[in-house]
Amino acid sequence: MNLEGKVAIVTGSTRGIGNAIAKLYLKSGAKVAICGSKEENAITAMEKIKEELKIENDQIMPIGVNMKDTQSIQIMVKKVIEKWQRIDILVNNAGITSNKSLLDSTDEDFYEMFDINVFGTLKTTREVVKYMKETGGSIINTSSMVGINGGKNQVAYASSKFAINGITKSLAKELGQYNIRVNAVAPGVVETDMMKDTVTEEMKQMLIHMTPLAKMAEPKDLAGAYLYLASNESCFTTGTIIQVDGGLVM
Ligand code: NAD
Repeated sequence: MNLEGKVAIVTGSTRGIGNAIAKLYLKSGAKVAICGSKEENAITAMEKIKEELKIENDQIMPIGVNMKDTQSIQIMVKKVIEKWQRIDILVNNAGITSNKSLLDSTDEDFYEMFDINVFGTLKTTREVVKYMKETGGSIINTSSMVGINGGKNQVAYASSKFAINGITKSLAKELGQYNIRVNAVAPGVVETDMMKDTVTEEMKQMLIHMTPLAKMAEPKDLAGAYLYLASNESCFTTGTIIQVDGGLVM
């Protein structure tokens, strides 16, 4: 599978799952915008990738973007169009999580979660589709196993990921007319900074025990599913949610 000639925006690609996706896309020949909440982190991530993969400046660009801010999202999309004149792949991956019970959650907790995970995805997709509808393309949203099964003390996060699944299926129906495919990947537990901040060692061991493949994923274990969904090999696949969770949820 290759992505030669394709341009990709991967949100949340300064670290974690998004970073692994960006690297596999670059190795597969795509031009990639590395995006994160802080511009300096995007620049650092880009420099690291350039050195590791021996990538030239014309194949990669760093962008600082705030998923809560419409104007900032519009600027991100404009920068990519100015540099590469097209967007073939959008990975809506930036996200936050939290482990809070319903009664411990404030209004601000709910708004923050939906602002970033849900409205950030909707706004980014809208801004990208303005251009992508001319060429067709592939949109891939990062969901979660808790967006399929729910999660105790994760009601805000889980409901944001159920919303991601709804966005995926609704936009697959709406955007098929432009040859835009919309799919999602639902990871299980992945060793990233996000996971380390929220999952205790005890929870981690319990999740490993419950996973048929008996381990946690590394970010690179997820990237293959995103490559398939971005490539022409998945040209008749839309509206799906691919679980990459070691069999944890079935
Ligand atoms: P991470 O915390 O390592 O990385 C998150 C990325 O999102 C960073 O690049 C960060 O800059 C970006 N981001 C966060 N808030 C932002 C904002 N307001 N504006 C712009 N960018 C912002 O997380 P990760 O574990 O790699 O998770 C990536 C995605 O995968 C998320 O959507 C997460 O919900 C999902 N996910 C993760 C796991 C897991 O176990 N790690 C499991 C299921 C789903």
